[in-house]
Amino acid sequence: MIETSMELRSKISTDADLHSDGVQHRYLTIPHSRNDSAWGSILMPISVFKNGEGPTVLLTGGSHGDEYEGPIALMNLVRSLDIRKVSGRVIVIPALNYPAIKTGTRLSPIDGGNMNRTFPGNRNGTVTEMIADYVQRFVLPLCDAVVDIHAGGKMMSFLPCSVIHKLPDEEQMARTVAAAKAFGAPNCLVLEELDAVGMLDTAVEELGKVFVSTELGGGGTASVETIRIAAGGVHDCLVHFGVLAEEPRGSGQTRFLETPKGSFVIADRSGILEAAVEPGQTVEAGMPIAYIHDIDNPVAEPAVYLAPLDGILVHRHVAGLIARGDCLSVIAREIPSP
Ligand code: ZN
Repeated sequence: MIETSMELRSKISTDADLHSDGVQHRYLTIPHSRNDSAWGSILMPISVFKNGEGPTVLLTGGSHGDEYEGPIALMNLVRSLDIRKVSGRVIVIPALNYPAIKTGTRLSPIDGGNMNRTFPGNRNGTVTEMIADYVQRFVLPLCDAVVDIHAGGKMMSFLPCSVIHKLPDEEQMARTVAAAKAFGAPNCLVLEELDAVGMLDTAVEELGKVFVSTELGGGGTASVETIRIAAGGVHDCLVHFGVLAEEPRGSGQTRFLETPKGSFVIADRSGILEAAVEPGQTVEAGMPIAYIHDIDNPVAEPAVYLAPLDGILVHRHVAGLIARGDCLSVIAREIPSP
């Protein structure tokens, strides 16, 4: 019999049984033959909690290796989650791009792969592609909902937000908005993705399931506040989806925001960045939000970047150096709850 691609086994193996009851803290074993380990592999942590029938929720962090709220909140969760309070199944992958987390880099140090641009992946591809393929074909079909924790990484700083997409299916959109409210981040960014191809978001949404992501803080670290938001959000989503029988922590009211056309400010020169506005501050169209200085010409006036519209600054480039073409800032506008 000729196997179709959907029937092919992944090259990734695991002794975690996603279908058996109980708690399992195991590894996904990803083959990685290399100079210093001829028959070597990468052991990527996965935890599975299953207790009888009920929904399945996938929790992921570390899709980008310089974003730490997800790994921290999810490692804390797997040590504390009480299986007796679980109905259904919780699958936790604290570092989806495990090689990138090990080096603290956004992209995989092995193949340069951007995990959130690699879906649906490739069974016979690079390490990043193999991971995406495994998640796409063997994990997502089991799931009712996915919560994927992102942050700004080393180069960006965000006003702490959950992130959802405008979906054409009203019923799926309603489920997604309800999940974002349950997550309870202070803000929820409702995005129309410009280039959604390759994202885990898209892979999950195309299957008709609920997907909630986040952009929490940034600067290549995790703060007390952003870890609290990630941990509380994940916990309250598990309660919301009916998988965890606990009281929600109820982090509070969520303000909904959208990014209208023209809300992204792109640097058109390189230099030293002087921010004039921080994430969370209200801006008016035409007011300066940042300056870019040229160290080789100290007496020249810096380039001034102006707010393109009235709104709230939700992101700014956080590294001291900025390059032509970098995203400098994003301005969002408050909207009623969708
Ligand atoms: Zn990310």
